[in-house]
Amino acid sequence: MSWHCHGTNYAELVSNLQKRGILTSPEAASAMSKVDRKLFVPPTALPYNDSPQVIGFGATISAPHMHSYCLSLLADYLKPGMSVLDVGSGSGYLTAVLGLMVGETGRTVGVEHIPELVDRSIDAIKQTPAGSLMDMGRLEVILADGKLGYKEGAPYNAIHVGAAAAVLPAALVEQLKPGGRMVIPVGTMAQDLVIVDKLLDGTIKKKIEIGVRYVPLI
Ligand code: SAH
Repeated sequence: MSWHCHGTNYAELVSNLQKRGILTSPEAASAMSKVDRKLFVPPTALPYNDSPQVIGFGATISAPHMHSYCLSLLADYLKPGMSVLDVGSGSGYLTAVLGLMVGETGRTVGVEHIPELVDRSIDAIKQTPAGSLMDMGRLEVILADGKLGYKEGAPYNAIHVGAAAAVLPAALVEQLKPGGRMVIPVGTMAQDLVIVDKLLDGTIKKKIEIGVRYVPLI
């Protein structure tokens, strides 16, 4: 997908994402506007371009339109006090935004398997208003294999997966709270963004949203 919501500054980027109808949740827009994307990319990157940017170690920060799209799909599951897991948290940008949405009564866990990215993401998050959530112990970034989720923080109202899984990881479905929602890219060559809803009776409902291109969940 290319919606070309580039901005000359961060406020313009967020505003363009809203104007184009991609960032439909006011709560997500408010949280996003507090987390400057520039803090999460290398100095040579183009932070206000609506495109993925290389962050090193084979990872990219997703395009703002993808972050916005996923946040809009998850917004009802990111109310203050809810718990959220961000698998393949990479730059930490989305983890910070998710954290601000669920707030200090909620709980936010990012899981990333590259130690340098974990360290860098923690440093960047500290420079945003989400840093105080870290100080309070309400937001953490864990070094681990995201396919296994993070049992200690389960169950989660919302799970966002930022890398494409070959098949839907059973542990993540397991760690979703009844009534909760996961958004996950699934596939190898051709990938689909899949919405996985766990109904209150535990039934799993899957819906393919759109075709996407993410780096693989290893
Ligand atoms: N949402 C992130 C996406 C980063 S790219 C962002 O916008 O910054 C996907 C990330 O998934 C990479 O950082 C990669 O290192 C990580 N990843 C891939 N496989 C993983 C695994 N099994 N466990 C944890 N992280 C993984």
